[in-house]
Amino acid sequence: MSSTITDVKAAVEAKQLRRVYQSAGREVEALKSLDLDISVGRFVAVKGKSGSGKTTLLNCLGGLDSPTSGEILIHGRPIANLSEAERTAWRQKEVGFIFQAFGLLPTLSAYENIELMLRIAGFPRRERRPRAQEVIKMVGLDKWANHRPFEMSGGQQQRVAVARALANRPNLILADEATGELDTQTSYEILDLLRNIVQEQNVTILLATHDELVDGYVDEVLQLSDGRIVQDAR
Ligand code: ADP
Ligand code: MG
Repeated sequence: MSSTITDVKAAVEAKQLRRVYQSAGREVEALKSLDLDISVGRFVAVKGKSGSGKTTLLNCLGGLDSPTSGEILIHGRPIANLSEAERTAWRQKEVGFIFQAFGLLPTLSAYENIELMLRIAGFPRRERRPRAQEVIKMVGLDKWANHRPFEMSGGQQQRVAVARALANRPNLILADEATGELDTQTSYEILDLLRNIVQEQNVTILLATHDELVDGYVDEVLQLSDGRIVQDAR
Protein backbone atom coordinates (compact mmCIF):
# COMPACT_ATOMS: atom_id res chain seq x y z
CA MET A 1 0.00 0.00 0.00
CA SER A 2 1.34 3.41 -0.82
CA SER A 3 1.70 5.87 2.00
CA THR A 4 1.30 9.62 1.74
CA ILE A 5 2.51 12.30 4.09
CA THR A 6 -0.97 12.54 5.63
CA ASP A 7 -0.65 8.95 6.90
CA VAL A 8 2.51 9.82 8.75
CA LYS A 9 1.93 10.45 12.43
CA ALA A 10 5.53 10.64 13.52
CA ALA A 11 7.48 13.81 12.86
CA VAL A 12 10.71 12.24 14.02
CA GLU A 13 11.64 8.58 14.39
CA ALA A 14 15.08 7.29 15.18
CA LYS A 15 16.10 3.68 15.51
CA GLN A 16 19.31 2.55 17.15
CA LEU A 17 20.95 5.82 16.36
CA ARG A 18 24.70 5.92 17.00
CA ARG A 19 27.22 8.65 16.39
CA VAL A 20 30.84 7.95 17.10
CA TYR A 21 33.44 10.70 16.73
CA GLN A 22 37.11 10.00 16.15
CA SER A 23 39.01 12.42 18.29
CA ALA A 24 42.79 12.46 18.82
CA GLY A 25 43.08 8.75 18.09
CA ARG A 26 40.23 7.65 20.34
CA GLU A 27 36.53 7.10 19.84
CA VAL A 28 33.83 9.17 21.52
CA GLU A 29 30.40 7.57 21.38
CA ALA A 30 28.18 10.67 21.53
CA LEU A 31 24.90 8.82 20.81
CA LYS A 32 24.55 5.26 22.06
CA SER A 33 21.87 3.33 20.22
CA LEU A 34 19.10 5.80 20.76
CA ASP A 35 15.43 5.27 19.86
CA LEU A 36 12.99 8.14 19.39
CA ASP A 37 9.41 8.65 18.31
CA ILE A 38 7.99 12.17 18.31
CA SER A 39 4.52 12.96 17.00
CA VAL A 40 3.69 15.83 14.66
CA GLY A 41 2.93 19.15 16.31
CA ARG A 42 4.80 18.62 19.58
CA PHE A 43 7.11 21.00 21.40
CA VAL A 44 9.86 18.82 22.84
CA ALA A 45 12.74 19.75 25.13
CA VAL A 46 15.93 17.74 24.78
CA LYS A 47 17.61 18.17 28.14
CA GLY A 48 20.90 17.02 29.53
CA LYS A 49 24.22 18.25 30.81
CA SER A 50 26.88 19.68 28.58
CA GLY A 51 28.39 16.79 26.60
CA SER A 52 25.33 14.54 26.91
CA GLY A 53 24.80 14.53 23.13
CA LYS A 54 22.08 17.16 22.54
CA THR A 55 23.82 18.98 19.70
CA THR A 56 24.91 15.73 18.07
CA LEU A 57 21.31 14.48 18.15
CA LEU A 58 19.85 17.67 16.66
CA ASN A 59 22.53 17.81 13.98
CA CYS A 60 21.83 14.21 12.96
CA LEU A 61 18.04 14.72 12.91
CA GLY A 62 18.36 17.88 10.84
CA GLY A 63 20.85 16.48 8.37
CA LEU A 64 23.77 18.68 9.39
CA ASP A 65 25.61 15.53 10.40
CA SER A 66 25.12 11.87 9.56
CA PRO A 67 24.97 9.09 12.12
CA THR A 68 27.55 6.32 12.29
CA SER A 69 24.70 3.82 12.20
CA GLY A 70 20.98 3.63 12.74
CA GLU A 71 17.92 4.99 11.02
CA ILE A 72 16.27 8.39 11.00
CA LEU A 73 12.83 9.02 9.53
CA ILE A 74 11.54 12.57 9.31
CA HIS A 75 7.86 12.57 8.38
CA GLY A 76 8.41 9.03 7.18
CA ARG A 77 11.35 9.88 4.97
CA PRO A 78 14.65 8.10 5.67
CA ILE A 79 17.47 10.63 5.78
CA ALA A 80 20.42 8.89 7.44
CA ASN A 81 21.70 7.39 4.21
CA LEU A 82 21.19 10.29 1.85
CA SER A 83 24.25 11.64 0.07
CA GLU A 84 25.67 14.94 1.29
CA ALA A 85 24.06 16.81 -1.63
CA GLU A 86 20.68 15.13 -1.13
CA ARG A 87 20.77 15.86 2.58
CA THR A 88 21.54 19.52 2.00
CA ALA A 89 18.71 19.90 -0.50
CA TRP A 90 16.30 18.12 1.83
CA ARG A 91 17.38 20.21 4.83
CA GLN A 92 16.95 23.52 3.04
CA LYS A 93 13.37 22.65 2.21
CA GLU A 94 12.20 20.80 5.29
CA VAL A 95 14.08 21.98 8.37
CA GLY A 96 14.50 25.26 10.23
CA PHE A 97 17.44 25.81 12.58
CA ILE A 98 17.81 28.20 15.49
CA PHE A 99 21.16 28.52 17.26
CA GLN A 100 22.33 29.84 20.62
CA ALA A 101 24.37 32.68 19.14
CA PHE A 102 21.59 33.66 16.66
CA GLY A 103 23.81 33.16 13.61
CA LEU A 104 22.67 36.27 11.77
CA LEU A 105 24.90 37.85 9.16
CA PRO A 106 26.04 41.16 10.69
CA THR A 107 26.13 43.23 7.51
CA LEU A 108 22.57 42.32 6.48
CA SER A 109 19.34 43.76 7.84
CA ALA A 110 16.75 41.53 9.53
CA TYR A 111 14.79 41.45 6.27
CA GLU A 112 17.89 40.63 4.20
CA ASN A 113 18.94 37.81 6.54
CA ILE A 114 15.56 36.16 5.99
CA GLU A 115 15.42 36.90 2.26
CA LEU A 116 18.84 35.29 1.85
CA MET A 117 17.61 32.12 3.54
CA LEU A 118 14.64 31.99 1.16
CA ARG A 119 16.96 32.43 -1.78
CA ILE A 120 19.13 29.54 -0.54
CA ALA A 121 16.01 27.40 -0.11
CA GLY A 122 15.10 28.08 -3.74
CA PHE A 123 12.03 30.26 -3.23
CA PRO A 124 11.09 32.12 -6.42
CA ARG A 125 11.96 35.82 -6.37
CA ARG A 126 8.35 37.08 -6.35
CA GLU A 127 7.51 34.98 -3.26
CA ARG A 128 10.51 36.02 -1.20
CA ARG A 129 9.53 39.56 -0.26
CA PRO A 130 5.97 38.77 0.90
CA ARG A 131 7.10 35.67 2.78
CA ALA A 132 9.96 37.52 4.52
CA GLN A 133 7.58 40.31 5.52
CA GLU A 134 5.04 37.78 6.76
CA VAL A 135 7.48 35.99 9.08
CA ILE A 136 8.94 39.26 10.39
CA LYS A 137 5.42 40.22 11.33
CA MET A 138 4.81 36.84 12.98
CA VAL A 139 7.67 37.47 15.39
CA GLY A 140 6.53 41.04 16.07
CA LEU A 141 9.43 42.86 14.40
CA ASP A 142 7.73 44.72 11.52
CA LYS A 143 9.31 47.98 12.62
CA TRP A 144 12.79 46.45 12.78
CA ALA A 145 12.95 44.87 9.35
CA ASN A 146 15.58 47.28 8.07
CA HIS A 147 17.80 47.20 11.14
CA ARG A 148 21.01 45.23 11.33
CA PRO A 149 21.72 42.76 14.14
CA PHE A 150 24.02 45.08 16.11
CA GLU A 151 21.19 47.62 16.39
CA MET A 152 18.96 45.09 18.12
CA SER A 153 18.81 43.44 21.55
CA GLY A 154 19.65 39.75 21.95
CA GLY A 155 15.96 38.92 22.20
CA GLN A 156 15.18 40.80 19.00
CA GLN A 157 18.05 39.07 17.21
CA GLN A 158 16.75 35.70 18.32
CA ARG A 159 13.29 36.68 17.01
CA VAL A 160 14.86 37.39 13.64
CA ALA A 161 16.49 33.95 13.82
CA VAL A 162 13.11 32.39 14.63
CA ALA A 163 11.55 34.20 11.65
CA ARG A 164 14.38 32.97 9.45
CA ALA A 165 13.86 29.39 10.67
CA LEU A 166 10.14 29.65 9.82
CA ALA A 167 10.59 31.28 6.45
CA ASN A 168 10.81 28.16 4.28
CA ARG A 169 7.70 26.68 5.99
CA PRO A 170 9.57 23.77 7.58
CA ASN A 171 7.70 20.96 9.29
CA LEU A 172 10.53 20.55 11.77
CA ILE A 173 12.39 23.24 13.69
CA LEU A 174 15.54 22.38 15.63
CA ALA A 175 16.62 24.91 18.23
CA ASP A 176 20.00 24.31 19.87
CA GLU A 177 20.24 26.21 23.18
CA ALA A 178 18.05 28.92 21.64
CA THR A 179 17.65 30.66 25.00
CA GLY A 180 21.23 30.03 26.13
CA GLU A 181 22.40 33.62 25.76
CA LEU A 182 19.21 35.34 26.89
CA ASP A 183 18.19 36.62 30.31
CA THR A 184 15.26 34.97 32.07
CA GLN A 185 12.52 37.36 30.94
CA THR A 186 13.69 37.31 27.32
CA SER A 187 13.96 33.51 27.43
CA TYR A 188 10.31 33.33 28.48
CA GLU A 189 9.34 35.56 25.56
CA ILE A 190 11.16 33.35 23.07
CA LEU A 191 9.63 30.21 24.63
CA ASP A 192 6.18 31.81 24.32
CA LEU A 193 6.86 32.57 20.69
CA LEU A 194 7.98 28.98 19.98
CA ARG A 195 4.96 27.62 21.87
CA ASN A 196 2.61 29.76 19.72
CA ILE A 197 4.32 28.64 16.54
CA VAL A 198 3.79 24.98 17.48
CA GLN A 199 0.12 25.62 18.23
CA GLU A 200 -0.68 27.73 15.21
CA GLN A 201 1.36 26.08 12.50
CA ASN A 202 1.41 22.42 13.44
CA VAL A 203 5.19 22.30 13.22
CA THR A 204 7.29 20.13 15.52
CA ILE A 205 10.00 21.84 17.54
CA LEU A 206 12.91 20.18 19.35
CA LEU A 207 14.68 22.52 21.72
CA ALA A 208 17.99 21.41 23.22
CA THR A 209 18.64 23.05 26.55
CA HIS A 210 19.90 22.56 30.06
CA ASP A 211 17.59 25.28 31.27
CA GLU A 212 14.84 24.50 33.81
CA LEU A 213 12.84 27.43 32.41
CA VAL A 214 11.45 25.35 29.55
CA ASP A 215 9.54 22.85 31.66
CA GLY A 216 6.29 24.83 31.72
CA TYR A 217 6.31 25.39 27.96
CA VAL A 218 6.95 22.02 26.36
CA ASP A 219 4.72 19.00 25.76
CA GLU A 220 7.47 16.51 26.34
CA VAL A 221 10.94 16.25 27.86
CA LEU A 222 13.61 13.89 26.59
CA GLN A 223 16.37 13.60 29.14
CA LEU A 224 19.75 12.67 27.70
CA SER A 225 22.65 11.37 29.72
CA ASP A 226 25.92 10.20 28.15
CA GLY A 227 24.31 9.67 24.77
CA ARG A 228 21.28 7.76 26.00
CA ILE A 229 17.69 8.75 26.69
CA VAL A 230 17.24 8.17 30.39
CA GLN A 231 13.74 9.56 30.69
CA ASP A 232 10.95 10.28 28.24
CA ALA A 233 8.31 12.29 30.09
CA ARG A 234 5.04 13.52 28.64
P1 ADP B 1 25.85 18.66 24.20
O1 ADP B 1 25.29 19.42 23.03
O2 ADP B 1 24.81 17.97 25.01
O3 ADP B 1 26.75 19.50 25.02
P2 ADP B 1 27.47 17.29 22.20
O4 ADP B 1 26.57 16.61 21.25
O5 ADP B 1 28.06 18.58 21.76
O6 ADP B 1 26.73 17.47 23.60
O7 ADP B 1 28.66 16.32 22.57
C1 ADP B 1 28.47 14.96 22.94
C2 ADP B 1 29.83 14.29 23.10
O8 ADP B 1 30.48 14.22 21.85
C3 ADP B 1 30.79 15.02 24.03
O9 ADP B 1 31.58 14.06 24.70
C4 ADP B 1 31.62 15.84 23.07
O10 ADP B 1 32.89 16.10 23.62
C5 ADP B 1 31.72 14.90 21.88
N1 ADP B 1 31.86 15.63 20.60
C6 ADP B 1 30.98 16.50 20.08
N2 ADP B 1 31.39 16.94 18.88
C7 ADP B 1 32.59 16.33 18.65
C8 ADP B 1 33.52 16.36 17.57
N3 ADP B 1 33.30 17.11 16.48
N4 ADP B 1 34.63 15.59 17.69
C9 ADP B 1 34.83 14.82 18.75
N5 ADP B 1 33.99 14.74 19.80
C10 ADP B 1 32.88 15.48 19.76
MG1 MG C 1 25.32 21.44 22.58
